[in-house]
Amino acid sequence: MGAQAVAITPKEDTWAMALRQFNVAADFLPLKRGIREVLAYPKRELTVNFPVKMDDGSVRIFTGYRVHHNTVLGPTKGGIRYHPGVTLNDVRALAMWMTWKCSVVGLPFGGAKGAVVVNPKELSRDELEHLTRRYATEISILMSPEGDIPAPDLGTDAQVMAWIMDTYSMHAGHSTPSVVTGKPLAIGGSQGRSEAPGRGVWLVAREASRQVGIPLDGAKVAVQGFGAVGSTVSFLLHDHGCSIVAVSDSAGGIHNEKGIDPRALRRFKDEHGTVAGFPGAERITNPELLELSCDILVPSAVQGQITSENAPRLRARIVVEGANGPVTPDADRILADRKILVVPDAISNSGGVIVSYFEWVQGLQQFFWTEDEINHNLERIMLRSFGQVVRTAEEKRTTLRTAALIRAIDRVAEALMTRGIYP
Ligand code: GLU
Repeated sequence: MGAQAVAITPKEDTWAMALRQFNVAADFLPLKRGIREVLAYPKRELTVNFPVKMDDGSVRIFTGYRVHHNTVLGPTKGGIRYHPGVTLNDVRALAMWMTWKCSVVGLPFGGAKGAVVVNPKELSRDELEHLTRRYATEISILMSPEGDIPAPDLGTDAQVMAWIMDTYSMHAGHSTPSVVTGKPLAIGGSQGRSEAPGRGVWLVAREASRQVGIPLDGAKVAVQGFGAVGSTVSFLLHDHGCSIVAVSDSAGGIHNEKGIDPRALRRFKDEHGTVAGFPGAERITNPELLELSCDILVPSAVQGQITSENAPRLRARIVVEGANGPVTPDADRILADRKILVVPDAISNSGGVIVSYFEWVQGLQQFFWTEDEINHNLERIMLRSFGQVVRTAEEKRTTLRTAALIRAIDRVAEALMTRGIYP
């Protein structure tokens, strides 16, 4: 296998993908045309171009977005992504996916997403703080504990959330922790929140393996992406008997049939900035990782990775989506024909937003739960939702993705029609 690094970049327009998935599921529901359109289109979209003073004294303009896809079920919820290639269409899709994710797992939230077009690794810590505080100020017309509650996503973390919380609080004149989730524990974050997205992926990987009849003990796992989701899910699957045979990040991947110790790999990545070059493993590219023979493949990098081009060559038995939108609609069809089970993002990576909900509730009530309570309630909600989606898929004879979207769209449609169209 070649050793050349291949960047992880999406290959299909994300918004087109999200709409195609929506249309497939909406066709199962008796929705009037107007209602269907309300559910498809983003409710509001904000684009901001804003200046940031850089360390060398120069001023640079950055572009940011915040999209509210749907607000019918409650305040909007969704992360903020810092990525050099992010587009408004990506943010629209990601916001729509948040609507379905919150709906299918039963949270009282609508869907939103935000982004800044930037490579955060190229900024100093001061520049990152200035950019974050200015972006937070620009989107503060949309953000509030009752209206829209951001969280971390690709390229952002708990520290970025702390700066957003502080900026909002300085303008409000009082501390407002519930305006963001995924905050550090020191300022009202929740136990278990940083681990939650990966823990959720592990929980559904376990349930899906049971369903397909693959014992987790000894199962071979390949993980694309070694960020917050990819590393936690690797630790948990490894701790429960799986063999992590391959891992990648944006600089390339590594492969070892005998298994990789994910914690040693984490230490290596912290030191060298990438997993590539980890001793004792063979170097592979991201496309090669996706096509390895394994039991469970966890794409947890970015959208649009498994396409009509590589889906015919996939050799995994189960694909559990750690990222949002890693499998395109064409690939979904090919994998369904090939009887490869795909557990869709709306369920599999909902752990983050579920514990965000717990964090928001704890912040509003000023009453905090233990890590055991958090993890127990996370597992209860995820297993219930997974079971419901599996049953709907059986009833409607469709994929888990379409079943999840049918349930999600139906819940929002019912709420919309119960509330009525104003005025
Ligand atoms: N960014 C995460 C996601 O895509 C979490 C969103 C949140 O907690 O609001 O689900």
